Amino acid sequence: MNEPLPLRVLIVEDSEPDTLLLVRELQRGGYAPSYRRVDTPEAASAALDGQEWDLILADHSMPHFSAPAALELVRDKGLDVPFIIVSGKIGEEDAVAAMRAGAHDYIMKDNLARLVAAISRELREAEVRRERRWAQEELSRSEASLAAAQRIAHLGNWEQDLATGEERWSDEVYRIYGYAPQQFRPTYETFLNCVHPEDREYVRRTVDESLRNRIPYNIEHRVLRPDGAERIVQGQGELVLDDRNAPVRIVGTVQDITERKKAEQQREELLAEVEHALELRNQFLSLASHELKTPVTSIKGFAQILYQRATRQQSSDMLRPLQLMNRQVERLERLIADLLDVSRMETGQIPLEMLPFDLNSVVEEVIGEAAIAARGLTLDYDKQSELLWVRGDSERIRQVLTNLLNNAVKYSGARREITVVSRREGDWGLVSVRDYGIGIPREQQPEVFDLYFRGANAPTDNYGGLGLGLYISRNIIERHGGSIWLESEEGKGSTFSFALPLIEPESD
Ligand code: ADP
Repeated sequence: MNEPLPLRVLIVEDSEPDTLLLVRELQRGGYAPSYRRVDTPEAASAALDGQEWDLILADHSMPHFSAPAALELVRDKGLDVPFIIVSGKIGEEDAVAAMRAGAHDYIMKDNLARLVAAISRELREAEVRRERRWAQEELSRSEASLAAAQRIAHLGNWEQDLATGEERWSDEVYRIYGYAPQQFRPTYETFLNCVHPEDREYVRRTVDESLRNRIPYNIEHRVLRPDGAERIVQGQGELVLDDRNAPVRIVGTVQDITERKKAEQQREELLAEVEHALELRNQFLSLASHELKTPVTSIKGFAQILYQRATRQQSSDMLRPLQLMNRQVERLERLIADLLDVSRMETGQIPLEMLPFDLNSVVEEVIGEAAIAARGLTLDYDKQSELLWVRGDSERIRQVLTNLLNNAVKYSGARREITVVSRREGDWGLVSVRDYGIGIPREQQPEVFDLYFRGANAPTDNYGGLGLGLYISRNIIERHGGSIWLESEEGKGSTFSFALPLIEPESD
């Protein structure tokens, strides 16, 4: 025998013996009833409020209560509990009235054999009703959240019956087109009327083509709302075929993308403005440096003539100022050359003339020209390998090295020493310039080769510079297939190194 099934029963009955009879009948039918007997409306109401019940058995009439009154109580409380009338005597009319009022069955006390079957049927049906209710609630919940999602995303969905042209729109579709939800019954023509007149032909053609070729469509078009407002939407549609592969419906979505489009347009305008400003800057850079070059070159020429004349005439009071003038003019010249290079890099490339040369000889020449001693420094050149053949523009490599050496001089501290090393490392020719000067703060080191970079610790007086040299140097070295890097500690000095790929000397 199976375990008895627990059953919570509310028994509306004034007779205790009859109640026990019912309970025994339930037990015999395989239930383990836990029950309460009530025989007044107050007690019944309290019992219904106090707990959940699986079943209500009610006598038809009692001195203080009746089955119809109990039924009304149950209904008022919005409960759905199987309600069976068990009565000694009930007329046909009363029985029908009770059933109409919502009782699920009625059973004569002298025919209790039917009770158990009726109960199990009613319990099953109550279970079905409960499940349906849950499913319904679940459905309304997900419909509500779908509607909320559509409202938030300004995304509606629709479908069209191809045979009739009738459509079904979600609430958001109406709102996107400027109407109140479900304001009218839409058709394909109503939809076309919502499309901006200038885009209508395009939309109609796209939908037709999609139908003809049986491919989905995805278009952007304008919508003209009844109040005259224009919106931009993205419309998508897809065919639904029947089991004989004939198109029956189109299902689709429409999304209002006006705000996104506006933002995109603003971004594009801004980008165009920035590009224009950059172009103007480059034009200016290029023009200005070209214009500056000519007068500076002639000033330099005249300064040299004056210097030579002063040397010949041994006018010592003129020599010093002319020397200083020469140096400043050279500085100006370098600055202009750097500006020109940067403007070339921004608009295209620095021209390179690639030929094989020995890196060591460039290092020696640059050191020779740098007049380190004249600037009160000592330089140690440590040539660790003979002949480092590379392929490149030796003038440009010279420019890089000159820049590194000038920086080492400019930023050397109290210890007026510079070490230059050149050596072979595998397939690379490596040159490094070391100073013991101010160094570069660690957090700034990754930006050292950026355009306009100036160290936070670089003094501004007498150290003038625009932060162009290293930016140009990196570009030159990288275009040679090499790399450039630094090791530095603030207050202790820096080592700038670059490496270029070596070649076989006879390869050219
Ligand atoms: P400039 O020296 O004309 O400003 P660079 O591009 O050659 O331009 O150098 C950029 C910055 O890097 C310098 O302003 C300086 O702050 C830092 N720097 C470069 N070389 C050194 C160095 N050897 N020691 C310390 N700081 C340096």
